[in-house]
Amino acid sequence: MVDIRSVGVIGAGQMGSGIAHVVALGGYDVLLHDVSEDRIDAGLQLIQKNLSRQVVRGIIDQAAMDAAVARIKPAAELQMIGATGLAIEAATENEEVKKSIFKALTPHLGPDTILASNTSSISITRLASVSDRPERFIGLHFMNPVPLMKLVEIIRGIATGPDTYETAVNFAKSLGKTTANAEDFPAFIVNRVLVPMINEAIYTLYEGVGTVEAIDTAMKLGANHPMGPLELGDFIGLDTVLSIMNVLYEGLADSKYRPCPLLTKYVEAGWLGRKSGRGFYDYRGEKPVPTR
Ligand code: NAD
Repeated sequence: MVDIRSVGVIGAGQMGSGIAHVVALGGYDVLLHDVSEDRIDAGLQLIQKNLSRQVVRGIIDQAAMDAAVARIKPAAELQMIGATGLAIEAATENEEVKKSIFKALTPHLGPDTILASNTSSISITRLASVSDRPERFIGLHFMNPVPLMKLVEIIRGIATGPDTYETAVNFAKSLGKTTANAEDFPAFIVNRVLVPMINEAIYTLYEGVGTVEAIDTAMKLGANHPMGPLELGDFIGLDTVLSIMNVLYEGLADSKYRPCPLLTKYVEAGWLGRKSGRGFYDYRGEKPVPTR
């Protein structure tokens, strides 16, 4: 098993910053990379804000927060990630983007570095094939929000070695997470079940069966879901929801996974949910207001 001390996180959006947050609290040194210094700074600010919230709630103390903040360093260049023991890619859910990251990173990797992707849906086997180490490549699928959610789904590609698997499971456990194994099929377990439900909720809206408010209220009070499916879609990011539906549709070649045209329209409008200020709800005022 590999002894991991430093972790590289590629992508400083909502997931990358959440991963950097829990990994630093877990006592690892973290290097955080994104396409620009502004993006990295935004990620670092989000981490500070979320850590402060945990201090206020008494989940961690100030000393733990200060130590975690001190462990996270910006990495302006992707190649800096090559020196870490584990590189976790959490960039945009787009196969070409992810492949180009792994291709560019490969020449700079130390011999023992393990590569992981936080992809929600894309084949780990395919992503691994662009690196020089498919046996040291694994899917580590954290859930959103990372500091709160207990699960890490672990996905082995066809070539993932047993050492890599064992190291990944122990790493996730060292962060206080519980793991579940999923085979490398489109969207794995959680999103194979969850995202078609969100897509179906969007069809329900599209066909006029219910309003945004009625659909979310119905599923919260009628199915005991903590968030309604449209609210959840906004929370995940509608671009990510659409990408996952496309991976399911193309990967399983079954029309039951076709993305709802209304979902496509929202994404084309740049209405991506919470992260862009508007999705099925408008978040720009004091309270979220349904957009339909
Ligand atoms: P996001 O849009 O918040 O962040 C993505 C980040 O990746 C952005 O900051 C972007 O600048 C960066 N990026 C894009 N291209 C890059 C490149 N070439 N190099 C470095 N950084 C690059 O998205 P997110 O919600 O954080 O999702 C990231 C990944 O995590 C996706 O694969 C997604 O499927 C997965 N995921 C998302 C959720 C969720 O609920 N949102 C849950 C689990 C997993």
